[in-house]
Amino acid sequence: MIPGPVEFEPEVLAALASPSPSHMDPDFAKAFGRALGRMREVFGAPGGQPFVVAGTGTLAMELAAANVVEAGDRVVVVNTGFFGDRMGRILERLGATPEHVRAEIGGVPDLDAIERAVSRGPCKALAVTHVDTSTSVLAPIEAIAKIGRKHGALVLVDGVCATGGETFRQEAWGVDVCLTASQKAIGVPPGLALVVASPAAMAAWRARKKPVASLYLDFGEWLPIMESYERGAPQYFATPAVNLVAALEVSLGRICAEGIDARAARHERVAGAFRAAWRALGLSTLPKSEAISAHTMSAVWYPDGVDGSFVGRAREEGVVLAGGLHPEVKTKYFRVGHMGAVDASDTVATVAAIERAMVRSGRRIELGVAVAAAQSVLAGR
Ligand code: PMP
Repeated sequence: MIPGPVEFEPEVLAALASPSPSHMDPDFAKAFGRALGRMREVFGAPGGQPFVVAGTGTLAMELAAANVVEAGDRVVVVNTGFFGDRMGRILERLGATPEHVRAEIGGVPDLDAIERAVSRGPCKALAVTHVDTSTSVLAPIEAIAKIGRKHGALVLVDGVCATGGETFRQEAWGVDVCLTASQKAIGVPPGLALVVASPAAMAAWRARKKPVASLYLDFGEWLPIMESYERGAPQYFATPAVNLVAALEVSLGRICAEGIDARAARHERVAGAFRAAWRALGLSTLPKSEAISAHTMSAVWYPDGVDGSFVGRAREEGVVLAGGLHPEVKTKYFRVGHMGAVDASDTVATVAAIERAMVRSGRRIELGVAVAAAQSVLAGR
């Protein structure tokens, strides 16, 4: 129950355990093509260009930035935690100038502050993390994207901890590049960087003054490959992670069969149950309000007298949780991932293990209160 890698479905793991197909195999090409088509559906971007490249979420961040941003460009970063800082470092390596608009830990920067930063001068792009995994803060992407569009900035969204779990409509919201990785709400073990670029993002890439410095990152190398696979015909640039791509096709198929709205609603229900559990235990979360709390994960302050050893106790109680990540408060909170295939039973088992671990950490709580609170939400009361 960590915020990625999550637990994977047996059908997805079976695809990984199958003999590796040739990347030039016609059946593999068809499966790759279906995966690309399903990405459009999951991202809400029927007119977008999907890219699937072997690498982690950080590579997806680099792909997104390196193709549309050039040296000298000013980019506003809506910073809600650790991954906003990482995007800033990536932009610096590209020779761009990141300008962070930060909120206090657990907050989202004011929309007016974002607009002031974007409109202060030419702004090539506006980058934002949908859910920052270090704080579990959910950014209001639709409103932020509107600001970017109004001022002619390309909108880049890091959806690593959100896409496939949180409500998201790339095209309707005017997002130009959305990136994610396989290991979270997409439901595939780590190793795939997933990016969908809008026609405006592709036009910005075509209009570059200089080619992308890295061959591996260049959309230009990958575009013919993705177009070819989507037609069901194999083509080579660099060997695809064939088993992961096969697993991606299976997982995206399950996501589309569930329906992205139903999937988001399931994540909301599970998140509601966890929130009820935190309230019942008298715990507070890093996000300062429910409106900016993720549905894919929770980040919860330790109560008085409880420290990082709590995570070890929860593990002994059968549930793997994560410690803190935000460098300023790393030792002061824990995180629970509740995305992907998580259901009511996982939720109840996790809340129950957290209760036992809290008691073993010296908290005087009444056992069962958090489970009952979570159950009420899950039962629709
Ligand atoms: N962005 C966000 C929001 C993330 O949560 C992560 C990983 N936790 C990344 C980017 C980077 O992904 P990776 O660790 O796969 O490189």
